[in-house]
Amino acid sequence: MNETTGSAVRVEDVVKRYVLDDSVELVAADGVSLTVAPGALVALTGPSGSGKSTLLHLVGGVDRADAGTIVVDDREVTALKGDDLAAHRRRVGFVFQRFNLLGALTARDNVLAPVVPFKVDFDKAARADELLDAVGLGGRERSLPSRMSGGQQQRVAIARALVWSPGLLLADEPTGNLDTRTGAAILDLLLSLRAARGMTILIATHDPVVASRCDRLVRLQDGRITDDVDLRAGDIDVAGLLAGRPD
Ligand code: ADP
Repeated sequence: MNETTGSAVRVEDVVKRYVLDDSVELVAADGVSLTVAPGALVALTGPSGSGKSTLLHLVGGVDRADAGTIVVDDREVTALKGDDLAAHRRRVGFVFQRFNLLGALTARDNVLAPVVPFKVDFDKAARADELLDAVGLGGRERSLPSRMSGGQQQRVAIARALVWSPGLLLADEPTGNLDTRTGAAILDLLLSLRAARGMTILIATHDPVVASRCDRLVRLQDGRITDDVDLRAGDIDVAGLLAGRPD
């Protein structure tokens, strides 16, 4: 499999506001600053509506910040437009809670979907099959999503997210639709993919088991970072941190 170098991520004083129907303004990111080292696995936690998805969307360049700076490797995401912004999005893999696979397409074609419109210097089908193999789905290339379990569908979605060999993987509640055991297996997979490919991974999660297996836990509340904890130090009360009551 292709070696990838993990992306460095720098978020500085980022603000994102949404204007609601009644013209009330909601601040989904309220001066967020965060530096992530290449190859790190970071859990973004915090209650629903605390701004986890917003932060992932801003870093991935699918939504635009109102203020502040986001830099991924040498790309100042907050200054990118047009083709440069589209190229940035291809350098970032996204995984979602609902898998978001195309039901009419086989596993292989789902993995290939992001590269179909592009001329590339690799064999597309071979890349898809190699990735399906890497996520433990060798032999299921022609299966339709409806014939696969939730865990298998999420594996296809992860293979699809890797098709451009991204240095950064953004996962939004990737285990949220899975039972505990399947969710743990998906996290095992992300850890092994990181070890093999060196990607940086940001995971938004409510799950203390998932969060506790990350290197670092960043907790958001009301669009602000309230805690930023190095979990490699050991003996951290992750469940307490997630509940907003650090020991
Ligand atoms: P989380 O991922 O932690 O649940 P989100 O980032 O999805 O939080 O949402 C943060 C806040 O921004 C929430 O109050 C949410 O309702 C609001 N929000 C997110 N996206 C939009 C949008 N497109 N329009 C209006 N409000 C939004």
